[in-house]
Amino acid sequence: MTDLHRLSIREISEGLAAAKFSSRELTEHYLKRIAKIDPQVRSYVTVTNEVALAQADAADALRQAGQATALTGIPVAHKDIFCTQGIKTSAGSKMLDNFISPYDATVVAQGKNAGLVTLGKVNMDEFAMGSTSESSFYGATKNPWALDHVPGGSSGGSAAVVAADLAPFATGTDTGGSIRQPASFCGLTGLKPTYGRVSRYGIIAYASSLDQAGPMARSAEDCAYLMNVMAGHDAKDSTSMDKAVEDYVANLNATTLKGLRIGIPKQYFNVAGLDAAVKARVEESLKKLEELGAVLVEIDLNMTESYVPTYYLIAPAEASSNLSRYDGVRYGYRAENPQDILDLYKRSRSEGFGAEVQRRILIGTYVLSAGYYDAYYVKAQKVRRLIQQDFLKAFEQVDVIAAPTAPTTAYKIGASLDPVEMYLGDIYTIAVNLAGLPAISAPVGFDQDHLPVGLQLIGNYWSESQLLSVVHQYQQATDWHTQRAAIAEENA
Ligand code: GLN
Repeated sequence: MTDLHRLSIREISEGLAAAKFSSRELTEHYLKRIAKIDPQVRSYVTVTNEVALAQADAADALRQAGQATALTGIPVAHKDIFCTQGIKTSAGSKMLDNFISPYDATVVAQGKNAGLVTLGKVNMDEFAMGSTSESSFYGATKNPWALDHVPGGSSGGSAAVVAADLAPFATGTDTGGSIRQPASFCGLTGLKPTYGRVSRYGIIAYASSLDQAGPMARSAEDCAYLMNVMAGHDAKDSTSMDKAVEDYVANLNATTLKGLRIGIPKQYFNVAGLDAAVKARVEESLKKLEELGAVLVEIDLNMTESYVPTYYLIAPAEASSNLSRYDGVRYGYRAENPQDILDLYKRSRSEGFGAEVQRRILIGTYVLSAGYYDAYYVKAQKVRRLIQQDFLKAFEQVDVIAAPTAPTTAYKIGASLDPVEMYLGDIYTIAVNLAGLPAISAPVGFDQDHLPVGLQLIGNYWSESQLLSVVHQYQQATDWHTQRAAIAEENA
Protein backbone atom coordinates (compact mmCIF):
# COMPACT_ATOMS: atom_id res chain seq x y z
CA MET A 1 0.00 0.00 0.00
CA THR A 2 1.36 3.42 -0.87
CA ASP A 3 -1.06 5.66 0.97
CA LEU A 4 -0.67 4.33 4.52
CA HIS A 5 0.02 7.88 5.73
CA ARG A 6 -3.48 8.95 4.65
CA LEU A 7 -5.23 6.56 7.04
CA SER A 8 -6.89 7.66 10.27
CA ILE A 9 -5.91 5.97 13.53
CA ARG A 10 -9.05 3.85 13.43
CA GLU A 11 -8.27 2.77 9.85
CA ILE A 12 -4.69 1.94 10.81
CA SER A 13 -5.89 -0.04 13.81
CA GLU A 14 -8.37 -1.98 11.67
CA GLY A 15 -5.80 -2.49 8.90
CA LEU A 16 -3.28 -3.94 11.34
CA ALA A 17 -5.93 -6.16 12.90
CA ALA A 18 -7.00 -7.47 9.48
CA ALA A 19 -3.32 -8.05 8.54
CA LYS A 20 -3.65 -5.74 5.52
CA PHE A 21 -0.18 -4.47 6.50
CA SER A 22 2.22 -5.03 9.36
CA SER A 23 3.58 -2.56 11.87
CA ARG A 24 6.99 -2.98 10.23
CA GLU A 25 5.59 -1.99 6.83
CA LEU A 26 3.78 0.97 8.33
CA THR A 27 6.83 2.10 10.30
CA GLU A 28 9.16 1.74 7.31
CA HIS A 29 6.68 3.71 5.24
CA TYR A 30 6.78 6.62 7.71
CA LEU A 31 10.58 6.46 8.09
CA LYS A 32 10.93 6.70 4.31
CA ARG A 33 8.61 9.71 4.17
CA ILE A 34 10.55 11.38 6.98
CA ALA A 35 13.85 10.87 5.13
CA LYS A 36 12.34 12.30 1.95
CA ILE A 37 10.19 15.19 3.20
CA ASP A 38 11.53 16.28 6.57
CA PRO A 39 14.62 18.04 5.17
CA GLN A 40 12.08 20.63 3.95
CA VAL A 41 9.88 20.74 7.05
CA ARG A 42 12.65 20.29 9.66
CA SER A 43 10.33 18.92 12.29
CA TYR A 44 12.34 16.04 13.78
CA VAL A 45 15.24 16.71 16.15
CA THR A 46 15.94 12.96 16.37
CA VAL A 47 14.60 10.14 14.18
CA THR A 48 14.84 6.85 16.07
CA ASN A 49 15.08 4.47 13.10
CA GLU A 50 16.44 1.40 14.92
CA VAL A 51 14.27 1.79 18.00
CA ALA A 52 11.19 2.24 15.81
CA LEU A 53 11.86 -0.86 13.71
CA ALA A 54 12.60 -2.98 16.79
CA GLN A 55 9.37 -1.79 18.44
CA ALA A 56 7.46 -2.47 15.21
CA ASP A 57 8.79 -6.04 15.06
CA ALA A 58 7.89 -6.55 18.71
CA ALA A 59 4.39 -5.24 18.00
CA ASP A 60 3.99 -7.60 15.05
CA ALA A 61 5.14 -10.48 17.26
CA LEU A 62 2.58 -9.57 19.91
CA ARG A 63 -0.09 -9.55 17.25
CA GLN A 64 1.00 -12.98 16.03
CA ALA A 65 0.64 -14.16 19.61
CA GLY A 66 -2.90 -12.77 19.74
CA GLN A 67 -1.98 -10.14 22.33
CA ALA A 68 -2.42 -6.94 20.31
CA THR A 69 -4.68 -4.13 21.50
CA ALA A 70 -6.13 -1.16 19.59
CA LEU A 71 -2.89 0.79 19.20
CA THR A 72 -0.32 -2.00 19.06
CA GLY A 73 2.15 -1.18 16.29
CA ILE A 74 0.98 2.36 15.51
CA PRO A 75 3.76 4.97 15.18
CA VAL A 76 3.85 8.18 17.22
CA ALA A 77 6.15 11.21 17.45
CA HIS A 78 6.97 12.70 20.86
CA LYS A 79 7.67 16.36 21.54
CA ASP A 80 11.31 16.61 22.57
CA ILE A 81 10.23 17.64 26.06
CA PHE A 82 9.22 14.08 27.08
CA CYS A 83 12.10 12.11 28.57
CA THR A 84 12.83 9.01 26.50
CA GLN A 85 15.17 6.41 27.96
CA GLY A 86 18.41 6.09 26.01
CA ILE A 87 17.32 8.76 23.52
CA LYS A 88 18.36 12.39 23.40
CA THR A 89 15.84 14.69 25.09
CA SER A 90 16.77 18.29 24.29
CA ALA A 91 13.73 20.48 25.06
CA GLY A 92 14.94 22.43 22.00
CA SER A 93 17.89 23.79 23.98
CA LYS A 94 21.64 23.84 23.63
CA MET A 95 21.58 23.27 27.40
CA LEU A 96 20.30 19.71 26.85
CA ASP A 97 21.83 19.02 23.44
CA ASN A 98 23.99 16.32 25.05
CA PHE A 99 21.31 14.94 27.40
CA ILE A 100 20.35 11.27 27.01
CA SER A 101 17.51 10.58 29.39
CA PRO A 102 18.06 7.66 31.80
CA TYR A 103 14.31 7.05 32.08
CA ASP A 104 10.97 7.39 30.26
CA ALA A 105 8.32 9.99 31.01
CA THR A 106 5.12 8.30 32.18
CA VAL A 107 3.38 9.33 28.95
CA VAL A 108 6.15 7.66 26.93
CA ALA A 109 6.05 4.53 29.13
CA GLN A 110 2.27 4.32 28.77
CA GLY A 111 2.69 4.64 25.00
CA LYS A 112 5.18 1.76 25.01
CA ASN A 113 2.82 -0.36 27.11
CA ALA A 114 0.06 0.27 24.60
CA GLY A 115 2.41 -0.90 21.82
CA LEU A 116 3.06 2.49 20.20
CA VAL A 117 6.16 2.75 18.01
CA THR A 118 8.40 5.79 18.59
CA LEU A 119 9.37 7.42 15.28
CA GLY A 120 11.41 10.11 16.98
CA LYS A 121 11.50 13.36 18.93
CA VAL A 122 10.19 16.55 17.42
CA ASN A 123 11.16 20.20 17.52
CA MET A 124 9.81 22.85 19.87
CA ASP A 125 10.52 26.30 21.23
CA GLU A 126 13.38 26.21 23.73
CA PHE A 127 12.00 24.86 27.03
CA ALA A 128 8.49 25.33 25.51
CA MET A 129 8.77 29.13 25.74
CA GLY A 130 7.37 30.71 22.63
CA SER A 131 4.62 30.61 20.02
CA THR A 132 6.55 29.94 16.81
CA SER A 133 9.07 27.13 17.43
CA GLU A 134 11.73 29.56 16.19
CA SER A 135 13.47 29.77 19.55
CA SER A 136 14.68 26.16 19.21
CA PHE A 137 18.45 25.59 19.25
CA TYR A 138 17.82 23.39 16.18
CA GLY A 139 16.33 26.16 14.07
CA ALA A 140 12.83 26.88 12.88
CA THR A 141 10.36 24.18 11.84
CA LYS A 142 8.29 25.08 8.74
CA ASN A 143 4.53 25.13 8.47
CA PRO A 144 3.49 22.33 6.06
CA TRP A 145 0.75 24.58 4.64
CA ALA A 146 3.24 27.27 3.63
CA LEU A 147 6.93 26.63 4.23
CA ASP A 148 7.75 30.30 4.76
CA HIS A 149 5.42 30.37 7.79
CA VAL A 150 5.86 29.06 11.32
CA PRO A 151 3.90 26.01 12.53
CA GLY A 152 3.16 27.79 15.81
CA GLY A 153 4.59 26.81 19.13
CA SER A 154 5.80 25.63 21.37
CA SER A 155 4.69 22.19 20.07
CA GLY A 156 5.40 23.27 16.48
CA GLY A 157 7.23 20.06 15.60
CA SER A 158 4.32 17.93 16.82
CA ALA A 159 1.91 19.91 14.64
CA ALA A 160 4.20 19.91 11.59
CA VAL A 161 4.81 16.14 11.62
CA VAL A 162 1.10 15.38 11.64
CA ALA A 163 0.20 18.05 9.06
CA ALA A 164 2.94 16.81 6.70
CA ASP A 165 1.93 13.14 7.24
CA LEU A 166 5.25 12.36 8.90
CA ALA A 167 3.50 10.75 11.89
CA PRO A 168 -0.15 9.75 12.35
CA PHE A 169 -0.37 11.55 15.69
CA ALA A 170 1.91 13.21 18.20
CA THR A 171 2.22 14.18 21.84
CA GLY A 172 2.46 17.82 22.86
CA THR A 173 2.49 19.93 26.00
CA ASP A 174 0.51 23.06 26.75
CA THR A 175 1.52 25.59 29.39
CA GLY A 176 -0.27 28.52 27.82
CA GLY A 177 -1.53 27.25 24.47
CA SER A 178 1.30 25.17 23.05
CA ILE A 179 -0.95 22.31 21.93
CA ARG A 180 -3.91 24.39 20.78
CA GLN A 181 -2.15 27.21 18.92
CA PRO A 182 0.10 25.01 16.74
CA ALA A 183 -2.89 22.74 16.09
CA SER A 184 -4.74 25.85 14.92
CA PHE A 185 -1.83 27.07 12.76
CA CYS A 186 -1.47 23.65 11.10
CA GLY A 187 -5.12 22.70 10.57
CA LEU A 188 -5.18 20.00 13.26
CA THR A 189 -7.15 19.00 16.33
CA GLY A 190 -5.36 19.32 19.68
CA LEU A 191 -6.56 18.75 23.23
CA LYS A 192 -5.20 20.35 26.39
CA PRO A 193 -6.62 18.23 29.23
CA THR A 194 -7.64 19.33 32.72
CA TYR A 195 -4.61 19.97 34.94
CA GLY A 196 -3.88 16.65 36.64
CA ARG A 197 -5.45 14.37 34.00
CA VAL A 198 -2.12 13.44 32.38
CA SER A 199 1.06 12.72 34.33
CA ARG A 200 3.78 15.37 34.19
CA TYR A 201 6.43 12.90 35.37
CA GLY A 202 9.41 13.01 33.03
CA ILE A 203 8.22 16.08 31.15
CA ILE A 204 10.89 18.75 31.30
CA ALA A 205 9.28 21.41 33.49
CA TYR A 206 8.48 24.91 32.26
CA ALA A 207 5.80 26.22 34.67
CA SER A 208 4.69 23.32 36.84
CA SER A 209 1.29 24.66 37.88
CA LEU A 210 0.34 25.23 34.23
CA ASP A 211 2.06 22.42 32.27
CA GLN A 212 -0.17 19.67 30.89
CA ALA A 213 0.41 17.13 28.12
CA GLY A 214 -2.12 16.12 25.48
CA PRO A 215 -2.68 14.67 22.02
CA MET A 216 -2.33 16.38 18.61
CA ALA A 217 -3.84 14.71 15.55
CA ARG A 218 -6.04 15.22 12.49
CA SER A 219 -9.38 14.69 14.18
CA ALA A 220 -11.08 14.45 17.55
CA GLU A 221 -11.36 10.71 16.95
CA ASP A 222 -7.60 10.35 16.45
CA CYS A 223 -6.99 12.49 19.56
CA ALA A 224 -9.33 10.25 21.55
CA TYR A 225 -7.21 7.19 20.75
CA LEU A 226 -4.05 8.89 22.00
CA MET A 227 -5.84 10.36 25.00
CA ASN A 228 -6.84 6.83 26.04
CA VAL A 229 -3.12 6.08 26.33
CA MET A 230 -1.97 9.36 27.91
CA ALA A 231 -4.59 9.94 30.61
CA GLY A 232 -4.45 8.42 34.07
CA HIS A 233 -3.27 8.70 37.64
CA ASP A 234 0.45 8.45 38.31
CA ALA A 235 1.85 8.01 41.80
CA LYS A 236 5.06 9.64 40.54
CA ASP A 237 3.27 12.96 39.94
CA SER A 238 1.71 14.34 43.11
CA THR A 239 -0.49 16.71 41.10
CA SER A 240 -1.94 13.92 38.99
CA MET A 241 -5.53 13.14 39.86
CA ASP A 242 -6.63 9.75 41.13
CA LYS A 243 -9.79 9.70 39.09
CA ALA A 244 -11.11 6.99 36.79
CA VAL A 245 -10.20 7.48 33.13
CA GLU A 246 -13.00 7.47 30.62
CA ASP A 247 -12.85 5.62 27.32
CA TYR A 248 -12.56 8.66 25.08
CA VAL A 249 -13.06 6.64 21.89
CA ALA A 250 -16.18 4.87 23.14
CA ASN A 251 -17.58 8.26 24.26
CA LEU A 252 -17.15 10.05 20.92
CA ASN A 253 -20.89 10.01 20.33
CA ALA A 254 -21.90 10.43 23.96
CA THR A 255 -22.56 14.16 23.70
CA THR A 256 -25.19 15.41 21.34
CA LEU A 257 -25.14 18.93 19.96
CA LYS A 258 -28.91 19.18 20.44
CA GLY A 259 -29.40 21.81 23.11
CA LEU A 260 -25.70 22.11 23.93
CA ARG A 261 -25.24 25.61 25.37
CA ILE A 262 -22.17 27.29 23.87
CA GLY A 263 -21.03 30.48 25.60
CA ILE A 264 -19.74 33.30 23.41
CA PRO A 265 -17.68 35.70 25.54
CA LYS A 266 -18.40 39.25 24.39
CA GLN A 267 -14.95 40.43 25.42
CA TYR A 268 -13.20 37.81 23.24
CA PHE A 269 -14.62 39.02 19.99
CA ASN A 270 -13.66 42.64 20.63
CA VAL A 271 -9.98 42.01 21.19
CA ALA A 272 -7.78 44.43 19.25
CA GLY A 273 -5.64 42.38 16.91
CA LEU A 274 -8.29 39.75 16.18
CA ASP A 275 -7.83 39.12 12.47
CA ALA A 276 -10.97 39.60 10.34
CA ALA A 277 -10.66 36.24 8.55
CA VAL A 278 -10.15 34.40 11.84
CA LYS A 279 -13.21 36.10 13.30
CA ALA A 280 -15.28 35.27 10.22
CA ARG A 281 -14.29 31.56 10.16
CA VAL A 282 -14.93 31.17 13.89
CA GLU A 283 -18.33 32.81 13.55
CA GLU A 284 -19.19 30.55 10.59
CA SER A 285 -18.25 27.48 12.63
CA LEU A 286 -20.49 28.66 15.46
CA LYS A 287 -23.33 29.10 13.00
CA LYS A 288 -22.73 25.54 11.82
CA LEU A 289 -22.82 24.27 15.40
CA GLU A 290 -26.07 26.16 15.86
CA GLU A 291 -27.49 24.49 12.74
CA LEU A 292 -26.50 21.17 14.26
CA GLY A 293 -28.58 21.94 17.33
CA ALA A 294 -26.37 23.94 19.71
CA VAL A 295 -27.66 27.07 21.43
CA LEU A 296 -25.38 30.11 21.40
CA VAL A 297 -25.43 32.17 24.60
CA GLU A 298 -23.64 35.48 24.96
CA ILE A 299 -21.60 35.56 28.17
CA ASP A 300 -19.20 37.85 30.00
CA LEU A 301 -15.62 37.00 30.89
CA ASN A 302 -14.69 40.21 32.62
CA MET A 303 -11.11 39.30 33.46
CA THR A 304 -9.97 39.07 29.83
CA GLU A 305 -7.65 42.07 30.07
CA SER A 306 -5.76 40.51 32.97
CA TYR A 307 -4.88 37.25 31.20
CA VAL A 308 -1.63 38.26 29.53
CA PRO A 309 -0.07 40.18 32.45
CA THR A 310 -1.05 37.47 34.95
CA TYR A 311 0.31 34.60 32.88
CA TYR A 312 3.51 36.48 32.04
CA LEU A 313 4.27 36.91 35.73
CA ILE A 314 3.38 33.40 36.93
CA ALA A 315 4.88 31.40 34.05
CA PRO A 316 8.29 33.14 34.18
CA ALA A 317 8.32 32.94 38.01
CA GLU A 318 7.90 29.17 37.90
CA ALA A 319 10.28 28.88 34.95
CA SER A 320 13.05 30.75 36.77
CA SER A 321 12.71 28.32 39.65
CA ASN A 322 12.51 25.20 37.47
CA LEU A 323 15.46 26.22 35.31
CA SER A 324 17.78 26.89 38.25
CA ARG A 325 18.77 23.22 38.08
CA TYR A 326 20.72 23.80 34.85
CA ASP A 327 23.92 25.04 36.42
CA GLY A 328 26.62 23.33 34.37
CA VAL A 329 27.41 21.01 37.28
CA ARG A 330 24.89 18.21 37.31
CA TYR A 331 23.97 17.56 33.70
CA GLY A 332 23.54 19.42 30.47
CA TYR A 333 25.82 22.03 28.93
CA ARG A 334 29.01 23.03 30.78
CA ALA A 335 31.14 26.02 29.79
CA GLU A 336 34.77 25.29 28.99
CA ASN A 337 37.73 26.31 31.18
CA PRO A 338 35.81 27.93 34.04
CA GLN A 339 37.85 30.24 36.30
CA ASP A 340 35.88 29.27 39.39
CA ILE A 341 32.44 27.93 40.37
CA LEU A 342 30.65 31.26 39.82
CA ASP A 343 32.19 31.64 36.40
CA LEU A 344 31.06 28.08 35.63
CA TYR A 345 27.45 28.84 36.60
CA LYS A 346 27.36 32.13 34.78
CA ARG A 347 28.91 31.07 31.52
CA SER A 348 27.14 27.70 31.37
CA ARG A 349 23.81 29.46 31.71
CA SER A 350 24.55 32.36 29.38
CA GLU A 351 26.00 30.08 26.71
CA GLY A 352 23.47 27.26 27.17
CA PHE A 353 20.21 29.23 27.26
CA GLY A 354 18.84 31.27 24.35
CA ALA A 355 17.56 34.85 24.52
CA GLU A 356 13.87 34.15 25.22
CA VAL A 357 14.68 31.72 28.04
CA GLN A 358 17.10 34.21 29.62
CA ARG A 359 14.48 36.96 29.34
CA ARG A 360 11.97 34.83 31.24
CA ILE A 361 14.47 33.81 33.91
CA LEU A 362 15.17 37.52 34.49
CA ILE A 363 11.46 38.41 34.71
CA GLY A 364 10.77 35.46 36.97
CA THR A 365 13.67 36.16 39.28
CA TYR A 366 12.59 39.79 39.48
CA VAL A 367 8.96 39.09 40.41
CA LEU A 368 10.03 36.54 43.01
CA SER A 369 12.66 38.78 44.61
CA ALA A 370 12.00 39.89 48.19
CA GLY A 371 11.16 43.49 47.30
CA TYR A 372 8.70 42.68 44.53
CA TYR A 373 7.17 39.36 45.57
CA ASP A 374 4.01 40.85 47.09
CA ALA A 375 3.55 43.51 44.44
CA TYR A 376 3.84 41.14 41.49
CA TYR A 377 3.85 37.43 42.25
CA VAL A 378 1.30 37.37 45.07
CA LYS A 379 -0.90 39.86 43.22
CA ALA A 380 -0.80 37.69 40.11
CA GLN A 381 -1.84 34.64 42.14
CA LYS A 382 -4.85 36.56 43.45
CA VAL A 383 -5.86 37.63 39.96
CA ARG A 384 -5.38 34.04 38.83
CA ARG A 385 -8.07 32.99 41.30
CA LEU A 386 -10.42 35.68 39.97
CA ILE A 387 -9.87 34.42 36.43
CA GLN A 388 -10.78 30.90 37.54
CA GLN A 389 -13.92 32.16 39.29
CA ASP A 390 -14.92 34.07 36.17
CA PHE A 391 -14.91 30.78 34.23
CA LEU A 392 -16.77 28.87 36.93
CA LYS A 393 -19.47 31.52 36.93
CA ALA A 394 -19.79 31.20 33.17
CA PHE A 395 -20.15 27.41 33.46
CA GLU A 396 -23.27 27.92 35.57
CA GLN A 397 -24.85 29.26 32.38
CA VAL A 398 -23.26 27.26 29.58
CA ASP A 399 -21.77 23.81 28.83
CA VAL A 400 -18.75 24.94 26.83
CA ILE A 401 -17.19 28.28 25.90
CA ALA A 402 -16.18 29.12 22.33
CA ALA A 403 -13.28 31.34 21.30
CA PRO A 404 -10.77 31.72 18.54
CA THR A 405 -7.67 29.66 19.39
CA ALA A 406 -5.39 32.49 18.31
CA PRO A 407 -6.08 36.04 17.07
CA THR A 408 -4.22 35.39 13.80
CA THR A 409 -3.19 32.60 11.46
CA ALA A 410 0.46 31.45 11.26
CA TYR A 411 3.11 34.17 11.22
CA LYS A 412 5.82 34.41 8.57
CA ILE A 413 9.12 32.89 9.68
CA GLY A 414 11.35 35.67 10.98
CA ALA A 415 8.44 38.13 11.23
CA SER A 416 10.49 39.41 14.19
CA LEU A 417 7.59 39.94 16.53
CA ASP A 418 8.81 41.79 19.56
CA PRO A 419 8.33 39.72 22.72
CA VAL A 420 5.27 41.63 23.92
CA GLU A 421 3.55 41.27 20.54
CA MET A 422 4.19 37.54 20.73
CA TYR A 423 2.81 37.38 24.28
CA LEU A 424 -0.39 39.16 23.18
CA GLY A 425 -0.97 36.39 20.63
CA ASP A 426 -1.60 34.06 23.61
CA ILE A 427 -4.67 35.96 24.82
CA TYR A 428 -7.18 33.19 24.02
CA THR A 429 -5.23 30.22 25.35
CA ILE A 430 -3.44 31.18 28.58
CA ALA A 431 -6.44 31.72 30.88
CA VAL A 432 -7.37 28.06 30.42
CA ASN A 433 -4.03 27.03 31.94
CA LEU A 434 -4.29 29.60 34.74
CA ALA A 435 -7.66 28.04 35.64
CA GLY A 436 -6.52 24.43 34.99
CA LEU A 437 -9.41 23.81 32.58
CA PRO A 438 -9.49 21.55 29.49
CA ALA A 439 -9.79 23.02 25.99
CA ILE A 440 -9.63 21.79 22.42
CA SER A 441 -8.75 23.43 19.11
CA ALA A 442 -10.26 22.23 15.85
CA PRO A 443 -9.83 23.43 12.24
CA VAL A 444 -12.72 25.50 10.85
CA GLY A 445 -11.47 26.90 7.56
CA PHE A 446 -8.81 29.13 6.02
CA ASP A 447 -7.81 32.76 5.64
CA GLN A 448 -7.15 34.52 2.29
CA ASP A 449 -3.68 32.91 2.08
CA HIS A 450 -5.10 29.42 2.66
CA LEU A 451 -3.64 29.25 6.16
CA PRO A 452 -5.77 27.27 8.65
CA VAL A 453 -7.98 28.87 11.31
CA GLY A 454 -8.84 27.13 14.60
CA LEU A 455 -11.92 27.23 16.83
CA GLN A 456 -11.29 26.70 20.52
CA LEU A 457 -13.81 25.12 22.85
CA ILE A 458 -13.17 25.42 26.58
CA GLY A 459 -14.89 22.97 28.93
CA ASN A 460 -15.44 22.65 32.66
CA TYR A 461 -13.10 20.46 34.71
CA TRP A 462 -12.84 16.82 33.52
CA SER A 463 -14.92 17.43 30.39
CA GLU A 464 -12.32 16.06 27.95
CA SER A 465 -14.78 13.46 26.75
CA GLN A 466 -17.44 16.07 26.09
CA LEU A 467 -15.02 18.36 24.21
CA LEU A 468 -13.80 15.50 22.00
CA SER A 469 -17.37 14.45 21.42
CA VAL A 470 -18.57 17.95 20.44
CA VAL A 471 -15.70 18.33 17.97
CA HIS A 472 -16.32 14.81 16.67
CA GLN A 473 -19.97 15.68 15.94
CA TYR A 474 -18.83 18.86 14.15
CA GLN A 475 -16.28 16.85 12.15
CA GLN A 476 -18.93 14.33 11.10
CA ALA A 477 -20.77 17.22 9.47
CA THR A 478 -17.82 19.15 7.98
CA ASP A 479 -14.58 18.31 6.20
CA TRP A 480 -12.06 20.96 7.29
CA HIS A 481 -10.11 18.33 9.23
CA THR A 482 -9.69 16.14 6.15
CA GLN A 483 -7.93 18.82 4.10
CA ARG A 484 -4.23 18.25 3.54
CA ALA A 485 -1.35 20.72 3.77
CA ALA A 486 0.44 21.69 0.55
CA ILE A 487 3.53 19.62 1.19
CA ALA A 488 1.43 16.58 2.09
CA GLU A 489 -0.52 16.94 -1.15
CA GLU A 490 2.67 17.26 -3.22
CA ASN A 491 3.88 14.04 -1.61
CA ALA A 492 0.56 12.24 -1.50
N1 GLN B 1 3.30 30.91 24.10
C1 GLN B 1 3.20 30.65 25.50
C2 GLN B 1 4.53 30.90 26.16
O1 GLN B 1 5.44 31.24 25.49
C3 GLN B 1 2.75 29.24 25.77
C4 GLN B 1 3.82 28.23 25.62
C5 GLN B 1 3.39 26.87 26.06
O2 GLN B 1 2.20 26.58 26.17
N2 GLN B 1 4.37 26.03 26.34
O3 GLN B 1 4.70 30.76 27.33
